[in-house]
Amino acid sequence: MNLIKSLALMEKYGTCPACGNGNVANGEGKLIVEDDYFYRSCKCGWEVKTDEDGKLYPTPY
Ligand SMILES: [Zn+2]
Repeated sequence: MNLIKSLALMEKYGTCPACGNGNVANGEGKLIVEDDYFYRSCKCGWEVKTDEDGKLYPTPY
C-alpha cells in the first residue's frame, strides 16, 4: 500500500471510535497494513477493514 495512503488511514482510524482507545500494543488492538488492505481492530470488539482508498470492506475478516 502507498505510504501516504496508509498514513492517512492510520490517522483516520488510529483511535477507536467506539471506546477512544488509541493503543495497538499489548493486545489492546491490531493494526495491519498489507498491499491491498488496511485493517484496524480494538479490544472492545470494534474493527474496520478498507482498501487503500479508504473504501470499507463489507465484512472485516
Ligand atoms: Zn475500542
